Amino acid sequence: MRATESAQGIVDEAEGIIDGVTRSDGREVAERTDAVPAGEAWSVDRVAHMLERLTSDFVLDNTYREQHLSLTASENYPSKLVRMLGGGLQGSFYEFAPPYASEPGEWSFPDSGANASLVAKLTGLGQQLFEAATFDWRPNGGSVAEQGVLLGTCARGDGFVHFAHKDGGHFALESLAGAAGINTYHLPMVDRTLLVDVDRLAVLVAEHPEIKLVILDQSFKLRWQPLAQIRAALPEGVFLAYDASHDGALIAGGALPQPTLLGADAIHGNTHKTIPGPQKAYVAFRDADHPKLKSVSDWICPQMQSNSHAELIAPMYVALSEIALYGHDYARQILANAKALAGTLHEEGVRVSGESFGFTETHQVHIITGCASDALALALGDLARAGIRTTNIEVPGSNGLHGLRLGVQAMTRRGLREAEMREVARLVARVVLRRAEPTAVRTEVAHLLQNFTLDRLAYSFDDHIGSPAAARLLGEVFR
Ligand SMILES: *Cc1c(COP(=O)(O)O)cnc(C)c1O
Repeated sequence: MRATESAQGIVDEAEGIIDGVTRSDGREVAERTDAVPAGEAWSVDRVAHMLERLTSDFVLDNTYREQHLSLTASENYPSKLVRMLGGGLQGSFYEFAPPYASEPGEWSFPDSGANASLVAKLTGLGQQLFEAATFDWRPNGGSVAEQGVLLGTCARGDGFVHFAHKDGGHFALESLAGAAGINTYHLPMVDRTLLVDVDRLAVLVAEHPEIKLVILDQSFKLRWQPLAQIRAALPEGVFLAYDASHDGALIAGGALPQPTLLGADAIHGNTHKTIPGPQKAYVAFRDADHPKLKSVSDWICPQMQSNSHAELIAPMYVALSEIALYGHDYARQILANAKALAGTLHEEGVRVSGESFGFTETHQVHIITGCASDALALALGDLARAGIRTTNIEVPGSNGLHGLRLGVQAMTRRGLREAEMREVARLVARVVLRRAEPTAVRTEVAHLLQNFTLDRLAYSFDDHIGSPAAARLLGEVFR
């Protein structure tokens, strides 16, 4: 494309690309919208051209998001305020203060006090939402949070127990444990129920006294686990951690129990799956004087990361405020939407995991389609072309079969309710089961989404974005 082409031309091109094909990889776009052409001087025109090229990427992405059914279980739509607040200067200052009392030292910088004030707001709200005595906002993602828990509770020669990958366990722990000389064990499961076998866990822990940590780290998660019984089966000194990366908003919204009240030493997770916040994470301890608080916190920061992205404190606070205000309704609508999606998929003849327990107790629905390559081909091929965005997994409890993991939280934020979720199920079934022409389904997807704008998300402060208070805040952020 030439430097003289207008911004509108770029917009048209991006929309043309979107209309033409949905790519399963970005190469075509990369080729067509490649970087600024080589040249000597950065004239005003050159800068304008560079900005136009950047704009085209945003147009491409926004259009994609508007027109696609996002059924990935691990992503969400943050509200306008959450998106905008991260643009302030806060991230240009380091913020190290740990979630325990500490003396000023090597990690203390002089500052205005604003970051400490923002941290206090966020921390107080986080403690309240997760029934915890501490709330460390610093981990930059759910993986760092769980890795901090692992390294802070286990030393070389110790052992830890978590979900096997085939039972939905997260991938971030085993390689690290191996490299650190920590033994890995898997949670025993009761056949077909997707629930932890508490009796066999008790035996496992008794037989291996080096086990110091049990971490419930399911990423493919349809059920609530028997947390109180798990706690009761463990010796007092074994640390019980609950990774709420997926169901954080369901817990904070009161639709699932609070892990800390059932005996978990800590709850941790990221803030961008059911919680519609920035890509960030937290670790919250039940007790402020917990013997592992300092070691877990120090592993996260400063050991594994020194930069905690302080510009994201304010957007985390606003996202959690949305949960505090709307979380009760949001969490219940998520559960109702997941049930509606699963039930209709089942009625349509799609093989849905978990019929014996009503298919789902979370935001997730698991479809079984067969072998790994078929599931991958569906997710990146026909479903993607049909405007339906999802990912393929090995389905827990299916004896090695693969399929799709769907999540309803993003569509719930867009305002879809049970009736629309049943329509979504029919569209998915047409592709998965009846091999409908993807472009025909895509038209119907776009039509369905027309009435559910990304501009005003449900359960968000988007309705307040034009208020004088919000305008003053944003004016100050971008001063
Ligand atoms: C997604 C996920 C993570 C990783 O979170 P990131 O923010 O991507 O680092 C950790 N644990 C579980 C259970 C997850 O599902």
